[in-house]
Amino acid sequence: MTDAELDRLAEIIARALLERPPDRDDSGRAATWLPTPVRPAPPARGTEPPIWSGAAQDLSDVAPSRDGDRSPRFRASTAALTRATRAAAAGKGPAVDRSASAPERRLTRQRPANSPAIDVRVGVSNRHVHLSEADARTLFGSAPLSVARSLTQPGQFAAAETVAVQGPKGSLESVRVVGPARSETQLEIALADAAVLGVAPPVAASGSLGESIGGVTLVGPTGRVELRRGVIVAARHLHLSPTDSKRWGLRDGDRLDVRCGVGARAATLLDVLVRSGEGHATELHLDSDEARAVGVTTGDTATVVAWRAGGPAKRPLITERDVVRLAREGARIPANAILTPSARDRASSLGILDR
Ligand SMILES: [Zn+2]
Repeated sequence: MTDAELDRLAEIIARALLERPPDRDDSGRAATWLPTPVRPAPPARGTEPPIWSGAAQDLSDVAPSRDGDRSPRFRASTAALTRATRAAAAGKGPAVDRSASAPERRLTRQRPANSPAIDVRVGVSNRHVHLSEADARTLFGSAPLSVARSLTQPGQFAAAETVAVQGPKGSLESVRVVGPARSETQLEIALADAAVLGVAPPVAASGSLGESIGGVTLVGPTGRVELRRGVIVAARHLHLSPTDSKRWGLRDGDRLDVRCGVGARAATLLDVLVRSGEGHATELHLDSDEARAVGVTTGDTATVVAWRAGGPAKRPLITERDVVRLAREGARIPANAILTPSARDRASSLGILDR
């Protein structure tokens, strides 16, 4: 190749490069050698506010004492608060070390020896299923559920209908349907039942299906329903009528220690959740596993031996984003929830604020 030919080739290449339209990517920006950096998605979190939001922070150390003439019982030092703030900002969690400045607050109080005993009736819940109206129609056709017998809780009934439940490992026959219909189908089983089915549901309060699991199929005479969520092991709880709630000074959300049974199997069950309000009749609800373990059956008596007040710290904080999510899921806002102002506005505009 001569020098003239080389020059000519160089000119052709240079022209081609100059006239070539710049490469564009999908978004219309000029393509680069390196991929556009992508910001990683933030870690997923549940309904809990993040630890650094301070929502779960106990303010008893900085708030004024409840009786006004006494100074706060203690105050954390500025250095301790700074350390705590830095640790929280770094995502390292709660950090206020109060051990040096204050004795641990006792949350659980024993009832004084001379106070009247609180005896409650025990009701043992076997595995059962609450159905949404749509699922009830799929499983049993259009006829309404028939009442076999009414339950202690006002308005609730054991239906004549039963379903079979199929899990990955085994199945349960004749699981009782409990009416009336609910907004969402919920299967409540004992851990022994879960082992038969081959599933691992969480222990959760009835109606709190955020952590619930699916993976089982309900089979009725006219159809099948595959559950994608709604399977729980119901947490033990004490229903309290408004009268008893007032009489004993216990409120919805309190947690109790309850002594159950007599003889060798007697035991104290900790952290029994109080469910109180209109439409509750006083009764301690245990599942079949718990009842068998402590040797009690429906109609026996159990005794409240200690309680923890369910304070504001236990009330869930609902943000506007939570409201949108709950509305989308067709779920309700928990009655004891604390709503941010924007959440309250959004909830009332969506019409799901029933207070
Ligand atoms: Zn119950």
